[in-house]
Amino acid sequence: MAKSRPLHWQEPTTENCPQCNGSGEWRGMFGTGPCAMCDGTGLVGEDGEALPAHESQPILRRQRDRLAKELEGARQHYRQLLHTPGVREALAAEQERQQERQRDEDMAHRKRLRGG
Ligand SMILES: [Zn+2]
Repeated sequence: MAKSRPLHWQEPTTENCPQCNGSGEWRGMFGTGPCAMCDGTGLVGEDGEALPAHESQPILRRQRDRLAKELEGARQHYRQLLHTPGVREALAAEQERQQERQRDEDMAHRKRLRGG
């Protein structure tokens, strides 16, 4: 009997690329580019080799779709929050506090630099 293709595509076991730590980005001294070890996907197979495009593409597409969905969910949540009375004011106040803290830290840092 001929070997039949599995009905469902099996997602291959993948690991984060050890070269770029799964970022897919190569950082050199003079710039960045796609990681050569994983073809810029950030993923390698169990054997440590870059995945063939027909395997990495569906994974990446699903990752992207999932991220887009999460982002949209977060946006909706944020929009709802902004319509809650008092939230805008609280956000503005928090922002101000953060800026103040940042200023204080900057000043303390500069003082330390001057040896004070
Ligand atoms: Zn890589």
